[in-house]
Amino acid sequence: MCFGAGGVCVLRPQIELLPTQLSYTMDFMEARFNKNRDKTPLAWHNLRACYGKCSLRQHFLLPCVLHSKRTVTFEDFNFNKHLLEGVLSMGFTTPTPVQEMAIPIILKGQDIIACAQTGTGKTGAYLLPVLDHISKTNKHQISTLILAPTRELAQQIDQQVEGLAYFTGISSIAVFGGGDGIAYEQQRRGIQNNVNIIIATPGRLIAHLTSGVLKLNHLTHLILDEADRMLDMGFMDDIMKIISYLPKQRQTLLFSATMPGRIRSLAKSVLINPAQVNIAISQPAVGIDQQVYRVHDQQKTPLLNMLLKNGSYASILIFASRKEIVKSLARELKGLHMKVSAFHSDLEQREREEILLAFKNKLLPIIVGTDALSRGIDVEGIDLVINYDVPGDPEDYVHRIGRTARAETTGTAITFVNHRDERKLKSIEQLIDKPIRLIDVPDELAGIQQVKHEHSANKRPQRRKWGNKPRSGGANRGKS
Ligand code: AMP
Repeated sequence: MCFGAGGVCVLRPQIELLPTQLSYTMDFMEARFNKNRDKTPLAWHNLRACYGKCSLRQHFLLPCVLHSKRTVTFEDFNFNKHLLEGVLSMGFTTPTPVQEMAIPIILKGQDIIACAQTGTGKTGAYLLPVLDHISKTNKHQISTLILAPTRELAQQIDQQVEGLAYFTGISSIAVFGGGDGIAYEQQRRGIQNNVNIIIATPGRLIAHLTSGVLKLNHLTHLILDEADRMLDMGFMDDIMKIISYLPKQRQTLLFSATMPGRIRSLAKSVLINPAQVNIAISQPAVGIDQQVYRVHDQQKTPLLNMLLKNGSYASILIFASRKEIVKSLARELKGLHMKVSAFHSDLEQREREEILLAFKNKLLPIIVGTDALSRGIDVEGIDLVINYDVPGDPEDYVHRIGRTARAETTGTAITFVNHRDERKLKSIEQLIDKPIRLIDVPDELAGIQQVKHEHSANKRPQRRKWGNKPRSGGANRGKS
């Protein structure tokens, strides 16, 4: 199961350890190895040598034999028994890798910087030790603040707290902007009711802090979730302002899907001697059938229409890069009698929630949205993701298509690539380390003409005609 020919260990794909993680991980692996010594035919030094040969950029990783699926259980963490009851009632039987790595460090009281994205179980990784801490200490004060970039993520975290802490008596409140005066008032009253955990978007939290309603003098834990997204959304100053209200003596946990320099600078200024855990998925789940269509802009909507009408997909996310495109695409699809909603930042909070609820409950089959949809939305059973535009950041591609094939199911991810986006496609293929299967545009669409201004916008002579057959098929890609 674990080792291929010549003693080379078969590595678990999907988990990437960054260089900074290496020594920690080797210790971690050695500990696991010792625990599993009787189960492996390979000596530790061979494992270490094999591990050392892997290129850091490749997606090598924890050899199966050391991957603890069967050895570490939630019981091993000695959680409060009511918390453990909640974990089991949520259907969590085995800690995910990020939980296995992060929970012991957080339980020890150390700050942590974790590179882990939605879908890895990162929320449980920080919630469980924090809930355990609260259950064993004073329950009558606000001890934990979780900052999240969006209302949707704040609500999802709140729901996980509710589930995990169900038998513990620990309470939480999600505090976010939008909504009306009544929502603000409800949040104000909730805060004054001495909840244990506040999950907030930065802007609204500052409103409560500056109004004097919210006092965080007894705070012991600060968690920054999706820190990279918060910085992308311009929350850096708000975060620093919020931190100025907090006790200096606290444990700080920073979770981020990516680790750009800005995150490391933030970590330097707010964390003390942090441990590092890197579980960044930069490989899409294996269950995703990834496809690319090379099209020109006038072919995109007819192709989309054709795919939606001919396919047997029940739950579909369509991503476009700008909200103007999202809105007009949703209008066009509605005009074609499809049940679809546009999801973008101009909507009221209530409208966004209604759309997501209808989508989750399978009453709404299609959402068209911007990248705001691609992170943090945890909906099961999405069977098709379409990238109407190629995302600018290759990591966003992984986030977008990661909405399908969750929890070891399968799904399809289709990307429309025009000539301007070819370079972006290359970056994506580099990141995921393989070419994406190219599908020919159906014959019926090959005759659709490109509009002239597209040519004039691109002054350079075109080497290839886009979206017209015949072209090289998937098997020939990369050979021309
Ligand atoms: P997250 O990465 O925190 O967004 O979690 C993704 C999904 O995994 C959520 O639906 C969680 O409820 C679920 N989850 C988290 N931890 C576990 C676990 N140990 N076992 C099974 N499911 C989990």
